[in-house]
Amino acid sequence: MSVAVAAPVPQPALQTLEKAWRQFRRQTNALKKQPALAGQIERQLAQNSWQLLRQAARETLQAQADAASPHCPVCDAKLRQVQMPERTIQNQWGPVTLRRAYGQCPRCKVWFAPTDHALGLEPHSQTSPDMSEKLAWLATQMLPAQAAEVFDPYFPFSTGWTQRTSRPRRTTMTPPT
Ligand SMILES: [Zn+2]
Repeated sequence: MSVAVAAPVPQPALQTLEKAWRQFRRQTNALKKQPALAGQIERQLAQNSWQLLRQAARETLQAQADAASPHCPVCDAKLRQVQMPERTIQNQWGPVTLRRAYGQCPRCKVWFAPTDHALGLEPHSQTSPDMSEKLAWLATQMLPAQAAEVFDPYFPFSTGWTQRTSRPRRTTMTPPT
């Protein structure tokens, strides 16, 4: 009997960090009752903790967005026609959506989302700066199929390499050689 590992993590509609924490506790207690190898337990815990970390990231980013003032990051003029669109960023624990102010500077005539600027998010990037850096580095080190083999079991939400290369997802731990 073994613990199933590396299956895609279900993404329930988590509303709060407390809810994510309760789910993590339940999953951990369930794991205690199943015979498993230490490596399988380690991997399953990492997978279960992603929801918790994703929710913590979402709440932290949203708090930054809520605290940001709707002023031009270049000339500090108050933005006009301010809207509150959502933006979704892939970080290493999955997609994180935040709602932030977006408006036009009356002096610069440019549209800005001051929160994006403060957080260092590139205007059209779909990945977090940290993820972008890791993916760019991996792309210089190996072929996409190899990267999927190494990276996707640990960060299944983030790379999309598994889908792009249509590799079957690895479901067992392979000992290092
Ligand atoms: Zn301006």
